[in-house]
Amino acid sequence: MLKKHNFGAGPCILPPSVMEQAAQAVINWRGMGLSILEVSHRSPEFEDVVLKTQLLVRDLLSVPDHYSVMFLQGGASTQFAMVPMNFLGAEKKAAYLDTGYFAQKAIKEAKLFGKVDVIASSKDKDYAYIPGSFNHDKQSAYLHCTSNNTIEGTEMFDFPKESVPLICDMSSDIFSREINITDFDLIYAGAQKNMGPAGMTLVIAKNEFINLAKKEIPSMMDYRIFRDNMSMYNTPPVFSIYVAMLNLLWLKDQGGVSGIAQKNIAKAKLLYAEIDRNPLFYGTADVGHRSRMNITFLAINKEVEVGFLKFAAEQGIVGIKGYRTVGGFRASLYNALPISSVEVLVNAMSSFEKMYSEKTVLELE
Ligand code: PMP
Repeated sequence: MLKKHNFGAGPCILPPSVMEQAAQAVINWRGMGLSILEVSHRSPEFEDVVLKTQLLVRDLLSVPDHYSVMFLQGGASTQFAMVPMNFLGAEKKAAYLDTGYFAQKAIKEAKLFGKVDVIASSKDKDYAYIPGSFNHDKQSAYLHCTSNNTIEGTEMFDFPKESVPLICDMSSDIFSREINITDFDLIYAGAQKNMGPAGMTLVIAKNEFINLAKKEIPSMMDYRIFRDNMSMYNTPPVFSIYVAMLNLLWLKDQGGVSGIAQKNIAKAKLLYAEIDRNPLFYGTADVGHRSRMNITFLAINKEVEVGFLKFAAEQGIVGIKGYRTVGGFRASLYNALPISSVEVLVNAMSSFEKMYSEKTVLELE
């Protein structure tokens, strides 16, 4: 059993039972006398894994039949380019919401392919909120948004209901809460948070929408190729897909997405309550836009920041250092993180508060 409380932002904690099954499959998969790492992706056993994983995604997110579920590679970062490569041409502009570091990366890539309209940005307040109102050209090729801003710790709870196709980067909150797939034309997510190990990228897209893609694009960047070849046009990330299947089975056992969403709400509430109570720390995101997955907070001074990081590490708490450009703390509470780990973090924060105030009193005496 692993002993650390892993608050890492991704790759991140996976359920211990999934790790155990994955480890067993590396040694001897299904008693075949072969490791999952050495079986052919064309074997019936692995084709069965791809099919099952697709069905689990459909089941857990209620994906309708007129949408395709695909497993790609290159991470969400490749999607930043693949989306405009498929859908942005000379005739139309694409609308983007600038809600943080990864949204900006998506915007940068899109500009390589055509005209980009940044219709709203929260940069003015260091991305502490999600812009509420915006206007855009109803002729836009699509509108791109980021449902959860992993670095800044904000999350979108209302999605634009627009007349243009909606595309969403859901890398850091997919499978953490219920969403209505039909609000979107295309969703993408790197696997390494709530889905499985890094290596595969999930894309869910409306067939009618991907049929609109430009004709002249490289095969490996063409959604239709992945859809029409059951995500096996080339060698897929076999192990990553396999572990995602195990993890999604685990999620089903947790009561599915609605079941885990309740747990995620409880975990986030517990930690935000401590951040708001404890005089040594304060949250960075606007209260109504606080992420349930990535909880960002700062210490009142450098001494507390450095001291608490050290103290937390002594309690087995890892992965809470804020992103390198932001500083402070970020605790990621992905699906597999048990509430008991959040309790350990909250207790560490309040113990540190006591130690710090006693030390300050001693210093004053
Ligand atoms: N978008 C979001 C919201 C992310 O959190 C990340 C990475 N954590 C990315 C995109 C980039 O993903 P990848 O590393 O899979 O390219």
